[in-house]
Amino acid sequence: MSDVLVVAEHRRGDLRDVSYELVTAGRELADELGGDLNLAVISGDVDSFAEHLDRPGVDTIYTVEDGEEFDHNVYQSAIEELLSRTDATAVIMPNSVNGLDYAPALAESEGIPLVTDATAIAYDDGLTVTRDMYGSKVETTVDVAGDRFALTIRDGEWEPVTGVGDATIESITIDTPESGARVTGFEEVAAGDIDISEADVLVSVGRGIEEEDNIDVVQELADALGATLSASRPIVDNGWLPKSRQVGQSGKVVTPDVYIAIGISGAVQHVAGMKGSDTIVAINTDPNAPIFDIADYGIVGDLFDVVPELVAQFE
Ligand code: FAD
Repeated sequence: MSDVLVVAEHRRGDLRDVSYELVTAGRELADELGGDLNLAVISGDVDSFAEHLDRPGVDTIYTVEDGEEFDHNVYQSAIEELLSRTDATAVIMPNSVNGLDYAPALAESEGIPLVTDATAIAYDDGLTVTRDMYGSKVETTVDVAGDRFALTIRDGEWEPVTGVGDATIESITIDTPESGARVTGFEEVAAGDIDISEADVLVSVGRGIEEEDNIDVVQELADALGATLSASRPIVDNGWLPKSRQVGQSGKVVTPDVYIAIGISGAVQHVAGMKGSDTIVAINTDPNAPIFDIADYGIVGDLFDVVPELVAQFE
């Protein structure tokens, strides 16, 4: 018993990026355990999702055709069925709204420990999981008791797997659970707003912008780059941008190709949401701002001078 089962995630017809990161995390653990890596693809267009997730290191992809969108009962039942069919020691799920919905119920029904929001995992005669506590101010190492366990992993902590694999794809059916609750549709929380976690380029604005009207200055840069505008928490707390644009511990975790932090100091709670970005650019008047510790490129300067100059250059 040393296999790892990973549960892919999709939303509104698209696989979420974390699914590819889950494959990397799952393969890493399967190598340490000396077992297979199997994937569960549940609901939606499972054949297309399985094709996309057939990546190096994946042994078997189990597809479960049942409904279009996430449904707690379907996911829990399907994973339980797969755990009973396979030799899995570990099940790894995304630390998303969906993952945190079914993971605790699954752990309880299987009688196995669950560690959420993992940022690193290692196995050496037992599982050790790294996770943050106290608003990312403290990093803890958790030794997990028992020989079977469940984990949820944080977005952006593992590299997404690339390449083409040769996994076996197997379709399984489950008895759709009888339940008083059933997902019947999907409604956007903020109608018409953008999912910043899916953006390739983010221009992010912080308290250095001083007042609401000045947001136009950074919006112009976002427009020039074809980027999406996001923000640190004070901007959202002030009501200058909607909550859906907030990056960080109490906002969204983002992993764009490019993240441009403008007038953002780099508090741990903000960094927790964007440190997985491929390339980080920071613009700040304070050369000692912590954001420069994680930036790939930094400009020490006044955003009201620097940003219009960048807009002119890009245009
Ligand atoms: P500040 O820290 O005030 O930084 C402003 C920066 O702008 C400074 O570095 C300054 O040098 C620079 N600046 C000023 N003027 C200019 C100029 N003209 N040109 C260029 N630079 C300039 N924060 C989040 O962002 N996301 C979260 O999800 C989040 N969750 C939290 C959860 C908890 C439980 C707690 C306690 C806090 C959380 N915070 C979060 C808040 C976080 O601690 C910081 O207060 C916040 O990130 C600071 O935002 P900021 O960098 O925009 O502002």
